[in-house]
Amino acid sequence: MDIEIKNLKVFNGVEFVARSARVSGVGKVRCDCEGGCERCSGTGLREPTDEEIFEMIVENDYSSALEHVVFSFEIHGLSKGNALELLEHRIASHTGRSTRYQSELGFGYCLAPEVERVLRRNRIPESTYREYVEGRGALPELPERDRKVLESYAGAMRCAREAYARLLELGAGRESARYTLPFALHTAYTYTINLRSLINFLGLRLCVRASPEMRELAAKLYIAVREKFPWISLVWCRGYNQGACPENEVRDSPQGRECPFKNPESSVFIPTKKQVRSGIELRPFSRQEFERVRERLLERWAQSSGSG
Ligand SMILES: Cc1cc2nc3c(=O)[nH]c(=O)nc-3n(C[C@H](O)[C@H](O)[C@H](O)COP(=O)(O)OP(=O)(O)OC[C@H]3O[C@@H](n4cnc5c(N)ncnc54)[C@H](O)[C@@H]3O)c2cc1C
Ligand SMILES: [Zn+2]
Repeated sequence: MDIEIKNLKVFNGVEFVARSARVSGVGKVRCDCEGGCERCSGTGLREPTDEEIFEMIVENDYSSALEHVVFSFEIHGLSKGNALELLEHRIASHTGRSTRYQSELGFGYCLAPEVERVLRRNRIPESTYREYVEGRGALPELPERDRKVLESYAGAMRCAREAYARLLELGAGRESARYTLPFALHTAYTYTINLRSLINFLGLRLCVRASPEMRELAAKLYIAVREKFPWISLVWCRGYNQGACPENEVRDSPQGRECPFKNPESSVFIPTKKQVRSGIELRPFSRQEFERVRERLLERWAQSSGSG
């Protein structure tokens, strides 16, 4: 719930990718006129538009040309723990908030997925809970187990904040005090990634198997990028991008339970690679239904780390 994408900038665009592809060489496409027109000089074959070249490159995975499009932005409110998952994506540049140079007194923190679920189930506003963590106000009536979850989490945040402050008071310095900071600690990054690598990132993280917070990050990034670079809607999860899901048996495990693309009877069925190889019969894929499913997932994942 905490992640924010700010100051997104896009360097180069579809025309630049098309130009680079033309340097390499691009074949003609069939003209949709009947009997010849100016665009094809009557030959029935014409030069492709920038957009057609771009789509062909994405679709055919001639991806080096996509490296010319670059996105820079800031990520705020990511947990320090899951920042490590972000950094596993090696083909990107990042500058992170320093816990040596910046003070984390009274630090901001993410709510764990289970804490978000408990709050939602019991209709407790996040702000009420955060007040409670600060020592202001009490929790309402709750089932015993849910109360314990909220109390334990609040206790951990308070304890870390107190230990951090105490070590600073004792003159230990930020460099030492920071060892008391939790996985949930808010961190921030300035991040630069090219389109090829971004497609790889989104493909992996816009998936029910990705961790909830990484899904939240991917969904928010997808939405922010789409505002300035609508072509990103050509891509989604790896299964969609490749026409076959590489998750294979994992899709039927509890983690894959919520995948909206795994039902062979649905109009947005995406087979696993294994199913393709075993010759499964495919129904026509509905782009319209896919778009509906995608918007639902984006809304849900961007809203909360705690869902699903
Ligand atoms: C659901 C899920 C679960 C995961 N679980 C774990 C886990 O349990 N433990 C864990 O450590 N990680 C885990 N990861 C992280 C995962 O293994 C990748 O490190 C991460 O997703 C980054 O992907 P990437 O390597 O494709 O991206 P990048 O590092 O950005 O690389 C992009 C592409 O460049 C190429 N490339 C990059 N570096 C090399 C290289 N050295 N050699 C050859 N080709 C290269 C590859 O084609 C790669 O796909 C998980 C990821 C997901 C989505
Ligand atoms: Zn024509």
